[in-house]
Amino acid sequence: MIDLRSDTLTKPTDAMRAAMASAEVGDDVYGEDPTVRALEERVAGLLGHEAALFTPTGSMANVLAVGSLVQPGQEVLCESSAHIARAELGAHAAVGGLTMRTWTHPRGQVDLRAISAMFAPDLGPFFVPTAAISVENTHNFAGGAVLPLQDLRDLHEYAVGAGARVHLDGARVWNAHVATGTPLADYGAVADVVSVCLSKGLGAPVGSLMVGTRDAVAQARVRRKHLGAGMRQVGILAAAGLHALDPAHGHVERLADDHAHARLLAEACGVDPATVDTNIVVAHRPDAPAFVAAAESVGVRISAVGPTAIRLVTHLDVTRADAERAAALLARL
Ligand SMILES: *Cc1c(COP(=O)(O)O)cnc(C)c1O
Repeated sequence: MIDLRSDTLTKPTDAMRAAMASAEVGDDVYGEDPTVRALEERVAGLLGHEAALFTPTGSMANVLAVGSLVQPGQEVLCESSAHIARAELGAHAAVGGLTMRTWTHPRGQVDLRAISAMFAPDLGPFFVPTAAISVENTHNFAGGAVLPLQDLRDLHEYAVGAGARVHLDGARVWNAHVATGTPLADYGAVADVVSVCLSKGLGAPVGSLMVGTRDAVAQARVRRKHLGAGMRQVGILAAAGLHALDPAHGHVERLADDHAHARLLAEACGVDPATVDTNIVVAHRPDAPAFVAAAESVGVRISAVGPTAIRLVTHLDVTRADAERAAALLARL
């Protein structure tokens, strides 16, 4: 079975498991886990921010990140298929007490005209004040689309002028970085707070980080404990992330292979490979669930992301040969 449902399916490599097994650990609630500290410093440094906080999931990193910018009773603006709006089960409302309004773009892009039309900083006691704008790079449900750096710079400049702040859901910012060559710090510079995932294409079994100012991260550390995620000898998990980010192991650089494999699969599914920016292919078909079942029966596992859309995701555990075989099987179907 070639499993193309998600890049979260990757399993830790033997070398990663060895790094985890030998990690130096301490009690992280006491701030005494050196491996967690090292990971937090490394990721903050990569994004050009002051500090970072290790979290069990990207959803929690997003809740802490957005919550650091938006108070209960305020709103965040985001694209209508953003992960924070579609795939976090309402946590931002349920836990953070905030509301969302959305703009819609088929490729998940920044639409400054729509954003400025919605923007409502303080219109008196009858309107929800806009505190932040959230963007997702790469954009998951828009097929791994990259947001151009210039659009993000324009958005940030607009937000600064308008008195709002910017959240970047960078679960796959690594893919955007590899696909475009844009330094991670350039993406970091256009946001007040960033969340990143180690558990997608980078191949770690678990782990995300919220990245921001020292103050925002200190407050998020308390908030994380509120949510029940003060973790103890968690360096054993942070070690997997540090391993993946070490250039010597190539987990970031090799995302380029995933992107090439995704283009190969796109072609097989009748999708223009030029529209595939990174490691996700979304194809529209009238019979998505039936096609998913047919693919499964020939040994390729993919997902339906709606009644008329299928999604294929390449990752660390899909080799070139797997991608070629899956492409041939899907083309035949
Ligand atoms: C995967 C993902 C997350 C976080 O997901 P978790 O399963 O909670 O780790 C956040 N944003 C985007 C865009 C994602 O793809």
